[in-house]
Amino acid sequence: MPRICPCGERIVEEISPTEKEKKIWFTCVKYKDDGLHRRKIWADAIEEETKSLRKDVDNHWERLREFEPHHTQIYNLQMQLQEKSDEIAKLREVVAELSSRVDLLDKLCYD
Ligand SMILES: [Zn+2]
Repeated sequence: MPRICPCGERIVEEISPTEKEKKIWFTCVKYKDDGLHRRKIWADAIEEETKSLRKDVDNHWERLREFEPHHTQIYNLQMQLQEKSDEIAKLREVVAELSSRVDLLDKLCYD
């Protein structure tokens, strides 16, 4: 549903008091019949909005399908990163162990 008129003013729901059939309208708060403001029957505005939203949803689905292969790649990269992190943690332990042995050898040889 339209929220802002091309003139910049708010659009509100209005029930026309003058018509026999009480139709709901979306009408600019500063509406004048001069072609510069928006006034639309509720059902027409909703139909237009629904078509627009349907198009947006279809476009979003299309974009999601385009991202699907990347999603798998990102998951695989996360798994590889986790493996590398585990490997780095193990190597740090080995380095720490070797460093302590070197320190011990230093003491035995030079003290
Ligand atoms: Zn207006």
